[in-house]
Amino acid sequence: MSRFLSKRFSSLEPYVPGEQPRERKFIKLNTNESPFPPSAAVVRAAALAAESLQLYSDPSCLALHKALANAYGVKPSQVLAGNGSDELLYFAFTAFCDADTPAVFPDITYGFYPVFAQLCNVEARIIPLSDGFFIRADNYYGAKGTIFIANPNAPTGIMMPLSDVLCIARRNPDNVVVIDEAYVDFGGKSAVSLLKDCPNLLIIQTFSKSRSLAGGRLGFALGSEELIADLAAVKYSFNPYSVNSMTMAAGLASLAEPEVTRANCACIIANREFTVDGLTRLGFSCLPSCANFVFARHASIPGETVFRALRQRGILVRHFNKERLEDYNRITIGSRAQMEALLSAMGAIVGSQEGANA
Ligand SMILES: *Cc1c(COP(=O)(O)O)cnc(C)c1O
Repeated sequence: MSRFLSKRFSSLEPYVPGEQPRERKFIKLNTNESPFPPSAAVVRAAALAAESLQLYSDPSCLALHKALANAYGVKPSQVLAGNGSDELLYFAFTAFCDADTPAVFPDITYGFYPVFAQLCNVEARIIPLSDGFFIRADNYYGAKGTIFIANPNAPTGIMMPLSDVLCIARRNPDNVVVIDEAYVDFGGKSAVSLLKDCPNLLIIQTFSKSRSLAGGRLGFALGSEELIADLAAVKYSFNPYSVNSMTMAAGLASLAEPEVTRANCACIIANREFTVDGLTRLGFSCLPSCANFVFARHASIPGETVFRALRQRGILVRHFNKERLEDYNRITIGSRAQMEALLSAMGAIVGSQEGANA
């Protein structure tokens, strides 16, 4: 830290992204990326857009907003695209939290929320999950702050029913309720259908997970025209061109072939069932996941031991060194071949540990 850094950042703890190893070939099951590359049409669209990179990208993202509006049954003025959903989440913290309006979110959730609260210098009111890692909706009634809920939640994968989302939105009419639906395409239910009844609801989704575009950086927010206008004001005060033209073209091309996304998600869901089944046979228990990952703990082997042993065998998963989470590993669901490799490595690890304990 230099002596020039503003004092308000002296205790800032940045988000720690999952490893992106470049030197060694790992089976990468640690950052919830898609195992499928983008389709040929998406790659072509991005390459074509690259031919006009001398020009700024369209700051209004008009074509993309129209396509998203069409896909989700809202007006284009109810959509805002951003440089990944992380950027839109940051805009939401900036626009809707302040000294009188803390950010309210669960103790176990997406690691960026506490970081954004620090960065925006707003209080974080943290509400513990239940013993089974569920979000209890009634804990959020009358919360007197801007609520951030990942649904399905991370790293648990657990989905909160839409009826609970509706109750939370209704019981906080004077606050914004942000639902982060990064994983909703893997068997969850989107709160988009609640938008017409809930002017305080803001939904944030991403092309990173279900649409194979994590490296493209594309997310979008859906909400009332007024909420979207507020977010756009922050965007235009920061970087009007935050979505670059290649990514915009890739996103449009992806929206033009919903059947590809549907098929990829169906495959991930099938591989998830296969993985949960295999892990269960090996003595793991998995939280009920609606996402492209499972959160799994072994009955007798510590989470960190599993993490290290997998790494030694060339498989990366995510381990969180945090109370309540340390027994678990978050395992991204990849291709069938990757999951077979995972289960075979887990079999060997469980076998050798149980041998050592015998
Ligand atoms: C991955 C993830 C995001 C971020 O996605 P980007 O669009 O890549 O920025 C947001 N929220 C949650 C809960 C995530 O897991």
